[in-house]
Amino acid sequence: MSQYRFTLEPYISSKNRYECPSCGEKHTFTRYIDEEKKEYVGLEVGKCDREQKCGYHLTPKEFFQSQTSFSIDHSHQNTTINPAVLRQVAFRAKQKTQPASFIDEELFLKSLEGSHPNNFLIFLESFIGNAAIAEVMGKYKIGTSKKWKGATVFWQTDEQNKVRTGKMMLYNRLTGKKKKVNWVHSVLKLQDFNLKQCLFGLHLLNSDKQKAIAIVESEKTAVIASIAYPQFIWMATGGLMNLKASMLKPLANREVILFPDAGCHGTWNEKVADLPPNIKYFISDLVEKKATADQKQEGWDIADYILRIWRVRTIYA
Ligand SMILES: [Zn+2]
Repeated sequence: MSQYRFTLEPYISSKNRYECPSCGEKHTFTRYIDEEKKEYVGLEVGKCDREQKCGYHLTPKEFFQSQTSFSIDHSHQNTTINPAVLRQVAFRAKQKTQPASFIDEELFLKSLEGSHPNNFLIFLESFIGNAAIAEVMGKYKIGTSKKWKGATVFWQTDEQNKVRTGKMMLYNRLTGKKKKVNWVHSVLKLQDFNLKQCLFGLHLLNSDKQKAIAIVESEKTAVIASIAYPQFIWMATGGLMNLKASMLKPLANREVILFPDAGCHGTWNEKVADLPPNIKYFISDLVEKKATADQKQEGWDIADYILRIWRVRTIYA
């Protein structure tokens, strides 16, 4: 049985996101569909969006392997799929074979001019000097957007220096906490844009072939950690669901150290099994060991600890 026969149902609206069979949360559960039979696999076969809080994920393979242990009556399950979903499936399948689209270079370069305030950089300025800010801005090509006053753009630039998209984020300039998020390709409403995300920081891959790659979830964390620990090349997935084979493929034959947020060590550990085998992985338990129960609940990451040290340094400097 081909694994590729099954796919997670593409999002149409909250109507095709269901109640999770594990945590019971409504509109969080994505079901698997059988592309060949054009029907759902099973009521409980799917994935909960709440990756950290719930983490339920039953794949069709696991389902069929252990079907005898399920006592659910399948005769009542809803197997009719909305035609819009099937069109989406076909569209996505076609997209996979098409090359990635890129963001216009002029727009990208304009965002680097820095003629507008950038709250993230203002926040960093309270801890580190201007020279270090300029260095990190250049290294990660951190942009500024007028979309919201003070907005930052974290460009996803690939190993060929092509811009896949940009994540626009608005931070509170005093606390550094995230307030708003949007994507450059969706703000520009680009027609037939074939989005293929890459790791934030991927363009640094070949800047030093001896260095190991350190991977975190958030872009902000990658930037901050790169200042504190320059012995690694820091990259960010931009989200837990992006810790997947297609995103890590360009890192073939390199050493990769994964730095999960507090409370996520187990989830990352599980995901490594599905990542490309030609990469040497280490999963750091630094944050997991250091975190208190509250910090785990709040999902602290390595940057939170770095910032805490920087704060103390600023107070006593
Ligand atoms: Zn759930």
